[in-house]
Amino acid sequence: MTELTNLDNVLSKKAKFIFITGGVVSSLGKGLASASLASILQARGFKVRLRKLDPYLNVDPGTMSPYQHGEVFVTDDGTEADLDLGHYERFSGVPAKRTDSITTGKIYQRVIDKERHGDYLGATIQVIPHVTNEIKDFIYSDVTDEDFVLCEIGGTVGDIEGQPYLEAIRQVAYDLGRDRIMFIHVTLLPYIPAAGELKTKPTQHSVKKLQEYGIQPDMLLCRSQTPIPQNEKRKIALFCNIREDNVIAALDVDTIYQVPVAYSHEGMDAQVCKHFGLDCGKEPDLSKWENIVNTIRCPEGEVKIAVVGKYTQLLEAYKSLNEALTHGGIANKYKVRIKWIDSELLEHNDPATYLAEVNGILVPGGFGERGTEGKMLAIKYARENNVPFLGICFGMQLAVIETMRNVAGIKTAGTTEFGKACEPVVGLMTEWDKDGAKQIRHKDGDLGGTMRLGAYESVLNKDSLARKIYGKDKISERHRHRYEVNIKYEDQLRQAGMIIAGKSPDGKLPEICERPDHPWFIGVQFHPELKSKPFAPHPLFVSFVKAAIDKSRLL
Ligand code: GLN
Repeated sequence: MTELTNLDNVLSKKAKFIFITGGVVSSLGKGLASASLASILQARGFKVRLRKLDPYLNVDPGTMSPYQHGEVFVTDDGTEADLDLGHYERFSGVPAKRTDSITTGKIYQRVIDKERHGDYLGATIQVIPHVTNEIKDFIYSDVTDEDFVLCEIGGTVGDIEGQPYLEAIRQVAYDLGRDRIMFIHVTLLPYIPAAGELKTKPTQHSVKKLQEYGIQPDMLLCRSQTPIPQNEKRKIALFCNIREDNVIAALDVDTIYQVPVAYSHEGMDAQVCKHFGLDCGKEPDLSKWENIVNTIRCPEGEVKIAVVGKYTQLLEAYKSLNEALTHGGIANKYKVRIKWIDSELLEHNDPATYLAEVNGILVPGGFGERGTEGKMLAIKYARENNVPFLGICFGMQLAVIETMRNVAGIKTAGTTEFGKACEPVVGLMTEWDKDGAKQIRHKDGDLGGTMRLGAYESVLNKDSLARKIYGKDKISERHRHRYEVNIKYEDQLRQAGMIIAGKSPDGKLPEICERPDHPWFIGVQFHPELKSKPFAPHPLFVSFVKAAIDKSRLL
């Protein structure tokens, strides 16, 4: 069976499709651009959905090094996806789903599964139509009552891996009709100081390349350090065959939350509406974004928080965390200054050299043994000096190990993740419940997609700090881990001053730990940073930043 299973569904729906491609160079912020466009369309009252199509061959980014690909974002339904999905959620508030992220690895996996199953009835399997059909079917899948589905194509036009995607979106315009489609191309206008000019040639070439694939962009979003003179816009419009009003300047801004406002001022949403023949008379209500930007620009104070981790060389690896701390700051009208500390540094020097000046310490998620001694030194410092501490996932596991080693006196306490014989306070999870069904894992199983992933509920202790912060007994948070604190150490931990403040509903998996003898010491097995939004800051981050502000006032 090679027909497009989801095409009829889309043909019967109203959704319009906006495809966002990138040209000239990578890292132009297409994800942010897509998310921002979605948010200003929302501000006009439209229902949006955002999707990412990644041309690389990995099935998902779950097994990629954070140095290679930055953070792995996790959705409620347990998909490990590109960090752009984080931008999408933070800007639109729409929770991303499994059907919002695809990679070439996944596409080929589907094609090969069908081939093995005999679905292609003896045909020779080719990139066109089999791979492109699979891409199109992804684009057409799970469309309901959205007004706009925005699909970002990863990579840069001209990449070999990207070609089937460009062919597929060209065909989408053919399948659905050009009036339901808009192609937006994000490019760069480099400024050449010697000439004192912005250069349009790379953009012209990039559009030519796109035209080679049969795609005529409808709008150009031109990243630029300086304002684009009207005559340059006119030139780009003429050479690229685009309406002048649809050459949109995307200038650098001081905070990413200014981007929706900036784009709207440039007329982007109005032009999108015009393109689709929609009413664009009324201005969108951008007050939500303006308020956020004002708070960021005029904070009442500043607080310093140390993030002690392993991937501090590449801040993309902690994208959501960085944002969630900013959101915690927004809620408190404070600027959060993050001091990124490579945990290995703490192993060779007195931790106080790095930590004495900070008002809060955060140990984020992570994998592998390298740098863990340094993280535990940071945790010990926070515990002993009453510095607010938040441990996320690996950070919670290490906080438990630190208490076991240094307070309970069990020096061999460790995690089986390090592979050494130790007191396995943290061990590999081999069985747990997911929506009533048992999940089973084995020591030598595949690494890809097999962690405890996505949203799980936790039940909070009545008189815990976590219960007070969340204001409810039951919460749902996103997970991504293979190891887990063993509940059988609960009593020993309690004697060492640490309580398990939240557990899985069956009571078997510790989800939150706290030290009641400390002003603010919380470890969580999940990733709260993934659900924080600038307009809905996560309560844990709000409270953590508040505790850090209180601490700064004591200093
Ligand atoms: N490495 C730990 C585990 O797999 C923690 C993972 C994380 O921090 N996301 O359980």
